[in-house]
Amino acid sequence: MKKERPNPTMLSLGGEEIFSQLSWFKRDRVETANVMVVGCGALGNEVLKNLALFGVEHLVLVDFDTVEPSNLTRSILFREADAADRRAKVVVAAERLREINPAIEVLPLVGDICHEVGLGLLRRMQVVVGCVDNRWARYCLNRLCMRAGIPWVDGGIDGLEGTARVFVPGKNCYACNLGPEALKELSYRLSCSDVIRRNEQAGRVPTTPVIASIIGAVEAQETIKLLHPDEVARGELTSLCGRMFYYEGQHLGTRVVEFAGYDEECPVHERWDPIETMDITTQWRVGEVWQRLSERFEDPTVEIPLRDYRFVDDLVLREDDRHIPVMRPDYAVERFVEEDARLRYLPFQALYQHEIDCLDRNFPYPELTLAQVGIPAWEVLSVRTAHGMHYVELADEDRYAERLSQNREG
Ligand SMILES: [Zn+2]
Repeated sequence: MKKERPNPTMLSLGGEEIFSQLSWFKRDRVETANVMVVGCGALGNEVLKNLALFGVEHLVLVDFDTVEPSNLTRSILFREADAADRRAKVVVAAERLREINPAIEVLPLVGDICHEVGLGLLRRMQVVVGCVDNRWARYCLNRLCMRAGIPWVDGGIDGLEGTARVFVPGKNCYACNLGPEALKELSYRLSCSDVIRRNEQAGRVPTTPVIASIIGAVEAQETIKLLHPDEVARGELTSLCGRMFYYEGQHLGTRVVEFAGYDEECPVHERWDPIETMDITTQWRVGEVWQRLSERFEDPTVEIPLRDYRFVDDLVLREDDRHIPVMRPDYAVERFVEEDARLRYLPFQALYQHEIDCLDRNFPYPELTLAQVGIPAWEVLSVRTAHGMHYVELADEDRYAERLSQNREG
């Protein structure tokens, strides 16, 4: 359905476009761009507000949280009733953004960026904006953006301090700039430990609305610049890419420092290209998918390695070697344990999980669907064949592309 632009004061004043005095500003580019914002907390709210005011009209929002009373002091898009009803942040934010600019198309996704957003969707973005509060989410976001070749903007806030950075695949990388302590923490998350990984919740950092506005504003500004690559190349705009913006509010200091580490050996830089599309959906069974791919690549040894997680079929009690069927991805095991009264209070060491890291012809559960083994809609599968890696995009079964571009015709 085509929407008219019923709010003329938003993007034009007295018939004149507000941003037309900015020589570099390309309204078409901003209006038609797809921008994903990951995290709808204090920072996410500020970023979204600014992007909406700037005229960005195609937004994908990703967050798994609901609105809580504590969010209300620093989240312009949320109201008391949203917290009382425990509504999903992305759904509330989508509604409020449409109030700001009714021309906006928002695709709200309740989920975790690390495992629940398909690369097919992410790779159709021009920019991804990270508004997350922990290293693991940044690491995952960076990895996805590297695979897709999409630039991303990162913001972080803590007390009265905050930072903003811009990462462009081929130029700089979040993972390459991590210090030893951060790498140690991440290597724990990435290790193939047979112990159930506790999902160490990021500690609640104290946040003020002001620091969120400052860092969120810089993130939004850098996002708009990334939508103007020609203007950046000509020097009309200077991107933060390769540097870090730092703001300290208590004694008032700002700095922009070099942040350009890029190690050619870093395993995260793997670009998934070319990507071919197939009609497979996540409702297909693993056995059918495997069959289809082995025909397509004419290779009976074809394998789909699970790159970012493992499939857990059993939890095993060390004491008596009893097996408890789990049948879900490892990132969902913690909840499984929490919800099971027998398991919840067991000490950590009492259990180990039996994991599978590849969907191949020996996968013991070929009747499970891709969704059941943890593969999100519109994902890109990495497929190992005798003649190298191939990348296969699943069908857009939820019609995300359509929902993103509804507004573009006409
Ligand atoms: Zn790297």
